[in-house]
Amino acid sequence: MRPTRAIIDLDQLAANYHASRQFIGENLAYMAVVKADAYGHGAVRCAHRLQREGIDWFGVALVEEGVELRQAGITGPILVLGSLRAGDEPTLVEYDLVPAIFDLQTAAAFSRSLGGRSHDVHVKIDTGMGRLGVRYDALEPFLRGLGDYTNLRVTGAMTHFAMADDPARNDLTDVQIERFKRSLEEMSILGFSPKIIDVANSPGAIGHESARTGLVRLGGALYGLLDDMLAPAIPRPSLGPVMSLVSRIGGLKVIPPGEGVGYGHTSVTKRETTAALIPIGYADGYSRQLSNKASVIIRNRVAPVIGRISMDWTIVDVTEVPSVAVNDSVVLIGSSQDATVTAADLAGTIGTISYEVTCGISSRVPRRYIGAGNG
Ligand SMILES: *Cc1c(COP(=O)(O)O)cnc(C)c1O
Repeated sequence: MRPTRAIIDLDQLAANYHASRQFIGENLAYMAVVKADAYGHGAVRCAHRLQREGIDWFGVALVEEGVELRQAGITGPILVLGSLRAGDEPTLVEYDLVPAIFDLQTAAAFSRSLGGRSHDVHVKIDTGMGRLGVRYDALEPFLRGLGDYTNLRVTGAMTHFAMADDPARNDLTDVQIERFKRSLEEMSILGFSPKIIDVANSPGAIGHESARTGLVRLGGALYGLLDDMLAPAIPRPSLGPVMSLVSRIGGLKVIPPGEGVGYGHTSVTKRETTAALIPIGYADGYSRQLSNKASVIIRNRVAPVIGRISMDWTIVDVTEVPSVAVNDSVVLIGSSQDATVTAADLAGTIGTISYEVTCGISSRVPRRYIGAGNG
């Protein structure tokens, strides 16, 4: 295995799940959102561990992500949050995946392909996100149409928040909850009685008591990635990051003062500089935008990235790191004694969120699993 790797702490994942449950409510059901390979953490391994911990549901964005979980032996119910595409119908049936449904054309095609069989679906309602889902104010005609497809069993109803992480916009979140309640009443009047009612993502469930309905959909909370999502004032469970990103120094060199470093010479040495060459680059998901901005930890010291991050290599100024040596371990995301670099730190440096940082760690970086159940 190359020395550049992402270490995934499955015990921390389990601890985050239990801490979230304790904080949000033990009487609710929980969905682990493991789309995008569990935000880069590895969907199969994370899902297996959470299945052992007793999680109730899994959520994926794509049908093929659901298939991957089934083929790896995940038996719990799986919701495809992003619905299905034409041609996906037999796969949904074969692998027992529940699609979110929000347009009649898709519903009709799915119903037809089922023939005499029936299949569970969840209705996704757009209460103000402006993205997927049937608009709350266009729900009635949708439901009337859906009623014709009697082999589609509507077992769930869901919506998704646009701003649950921002207390300054609680008004919109409250409006979304209100619209969803009215949508459920409409469903009931038209004869639908979905048993699974899910509203909240991680920020919704943690920040809004009124969003804690039957099932809660957790992504970021499970992976310990809420530092830059939730406003600081919002009380939260104690969560720790599941992923760290590490490497080892591949080479050292001394560069005289006044010389350029890396492509474009975007950094010029001010003094004699000891440069460490780290075998990680933007092809691994260590963004080129971090050039001259990020820091790493070597021998418990914070050391700055100098020059451009290239496809395969990153250069770090280790002049101030005593006894630095080739093969020393390098922490790019994670902690070492008192020094910490979080995914949120990197995200903040380049104007994104921690979710994008962990999702972006590419498949070229091997994942190493630690904690119980890592075999
Ligand atoms: C991605 C997603 C979630 C999870 O959101 P987090 O902020 O990671 O908890 C929940 N619900 C839906 C519909 C999603 O697409």
